[in-house]
Amino acid sequence: MVERATLADVGDADTLSEAARARLAEHLSHFLKPKLADNSIRCPSCDAPLWHGGGVLDALCSTFRWGLVHGDGFCGRCRWPVRFYHYLQLDDGERRIVFPLAYRCFRKGTDEEIDPASERARGLEDAEA
Ligand SMILES: [Zn+2]
Repeated sequence: MVERATLADVGDADTLSEAARARLAEHLSHFLKPKLADNSIRCPSCDAPLWHGGGVLDALCSTFRWGLVHGDGFCGRCRWPVRFYHYLQLDDGERRIVFPLAYRCFRKGTDEEIDPASERARGLEDAEA
């Protein structure tokens, strides 16, 4: 079962208007529930630390890499796609939220969602081949 990001993953979503909460919930529905461990956001597929919240640890250890599209990137270890900048129309205008959320991914040409845990196993097999 692949879990989606929801309003429960956003700390102060209850302070927003009903309309802003609806826009935020729709935006979040495109992403996986963030996986937190060891004071970092983990890659849903390979469990590498994507982000520690900024600073030296990120410079040294984080696997997030920027891509070609503004605000988008990927895990530098397994290449799972990640959006880091989120532009949202909230109650006080458009805001940029900086937070890595991994995209939900689907098999090409289908609505079959890819379970990042199964991709982890497959990716490791590929790496060893
Ligand atoms: Zn990864």
